[in-house]
Amino acid sequence: MVERLSPRAILDKLVSFPTVSHDTNLPLIDWVEGYLASHGIEAFRHPHETDPAKAGLFAHVGPKVEGAVVLSGHTDVVPIEGQPWSTDPFEVVEKDGKLFGRGTCDMKGFDALAIWAMVEGQYRDLTRPLQIALSYDEEIGCTGAAPLIEAMTKVLPKGSATIVGEPSMMGAVTGHKGGTGFMVHMRGFEVHSSLMHTGVNAIMYGAKLIEWANEMNVENRAKTPDAVDATFEPPWTTVHVGVIEGGTAHNITALDCRFGLDFRFVPGESSDDWVARFKAKVAEVEAEMQAVVPETRIDLEEMFYVPALMPEEAGEAEALVRRITGDNAPRVVSYGTEGGHFQDGGYSTLICGPGDIAQAHQPDEFLTVAQFEAGERFMRDLLTELAG
Ligand SMILES: [Zn+2]
Repeated sequence: MVERLSPRAILDKLVSFPTVSHDTNLPLIDWVEGYLASHGIEAFRHPHETDPAKAGLFAHVGPKVEGAVVLSGHTDVVPIEGQPWSTDPFEVVEKDGKLFGRGTCDMKGFDALAIWAMVEGQYRDLTRPLQIALSYDEEIGCTGAAPLIEAMTKVLPKGSATIVGEPSMMGAVTGHKGGTGFMVHMRGFEVHSSLMHTGVNAIMYGAKLIEWANEMNVENRAKTPDAVDATFEPPWTTVHVGVIEGGTAHNITALDCRFGLDFRFVPGESSDDWVARFKAKVAEVEAEMQAVVPETRIDLEEMFYVPALMPEEAGEAEALVRRITGDNAPRVVSYGTEGGHFQDGGYSTLICGPGDIAQAHQPDEFLTVAQFEAGERFMRDLLTELAG
């Protein structure tokens, strides 16, 4: 008889792999693949398109038919550098009813429960299938989800309802904002600042784009949001610049200026429209720069794109989770998840997972034992539901 691990034993194992986004997640994927295989579950790997050190994984249990419930989690965690940890971040330490460790909350706790549920499901007589989808690179902009979803829909019978287990205190979360981020590189022209009319100061032209962000925030705030957008905090699209660098000396027009500019879109507004509007502004400023020195320019690099999760009208995933949890409160969140990608892929999607998002990414990150147990009860009830 092959050993069936408890959710806690699986969590201990997952946390022991230091799967920080910039490092490999393959040892974790190897372990999950082997553990599922030891229970006769065939798992499929989805290798990263360019980085051989990363892979996603998906699997299916139950009847080979469409309509599975999909449990979605990411395997990567945020770095620990510069954080004062009281315990080894890559070991689960239980203290005062809390499970400390990097990723316990975000989101290896849910991953452990999902892996556990897959194995339990394998030994139950399910009438509706269950699937698991484990991604990479979620923490660096949800970039692993879209290719993973595409790969799994080619190999597995298409699932219909996805539960994204990001920390929500096991509450049903039906929506979040979308987001996209750009690295903007202003390429100016250096002259002595006494002759600044003949140079192109990358910082000062960059300031025009940053001022545009300020204007958009004022404009957006003044709008009257629709019923869905009104449930978000704040109920408008925001444009934010969080990092900037540039320039060489106070008396030289800056040759370079780089800054990161991010949008967080309310679901009622089109991300494509916003990006088009931004690019039009970039073209306008670039034309002003080139009128002074033709070889100057602005380079844009898209760093990430996370589609919004739209609250669904009579959504299947929502109905399922509300039936199990008894949670009927309307709830949307401000953080992005892979849920928008699943919804774009044709799945009814909602967020429900153990733990408090306030704990995510923190030093001494923890998941309470009570939340982990609530997650296990949820999985047991889900399996009962799938057994019809
Ligand atoms: Zn997460």
